[in-house]
Amino acid sequence: MKNVDRISKIKRLRTWANWNIGLGILLMYIGYAFFAGYLGSFLEKNYLFMTILLIIGFFMTMVATVLFMISGMISMTAPQVECPSCGKVTKMFGKEDACMFCGQPLALSEEK
Ligand SMILES: [Zn+2]
Repeated sequence: MKNVDRISKIKRLRTWANWNIGLGILLMYIGYAFFAGYLGSFLEKNYLFMTILLIIGFFMTMVATVLFMISGMISMTAPQVECPSCGKVTKMFGKEDACMFCGQPLALSEEK
């Protein structure tokens, strides 16, 4: 088993969204930096290049915001369970997930 599988799904979604925000802002910044001529003159005053980077960066930030909202809604509705390994209360996303604190794999037992 790979170590990645033991990260809680909500946590993974949040990490991903976080990276998306960071990359999006970085892209927009790079677009502006090129436009202003900070990073060399060959793309200076290039409106098309800057616009493309700004749009891509903007959409990445938007997607990340939506992902944050989704992860927020998921953790509102997710059932809480006490982790048998570290004793902390963690949230389950789906029937199988991992503890948010220690990465202990958890499974919801069906009681119907
Ligand atoms: Zn735990």
